[in-house]
Amino acid sequence: MMGTMNGLTRHQYKDIKIIARFTQVWCAGHQHSSRQPYPLPGGLHPVELCEECSRFVAYAIARRLHCPLEAEKPSCKNCRIHCYAPAQRELVKRIMAWSGRRMILRGRLDYLWHYLF
Ligand SMILES: [Zn+2]
Repeated sequence: MMGTMNGLTRHQYKDIKIIARFTQVWCAGHQHSSRQPYPLPGGLHPVELCEECSRFVAYAIARRLHCPLEAEKPSCKNCRIHCYAPAQRELVKRIMAWSGRRMILRGRLDYLWHYLF
């Protein structure tokens, strides 16, 4: 068993942190309205999200926590099954690409570093 971080495995913790932060960049960057702190598991800092993005992150976290490949996979980005439904899968690709590009433009290479390695 891998080490845990407040009830999450290290890989769950990292994946949830990444998707939550990238979605926060997406949400703020698109000026979604009524953003509120959205609590995250594992002792992660809450992120500011609108209602729609909160629903998406809740979905992403639920999928991650019920991953059937937990023992074998290094992280979601290298997954062989892609458990998201088509609409959410399309959205996550858009969020990761858009927010990743924005982080590069803003010099937030620290986030990308954590995402890529
Ligand atoms: Zn939003």
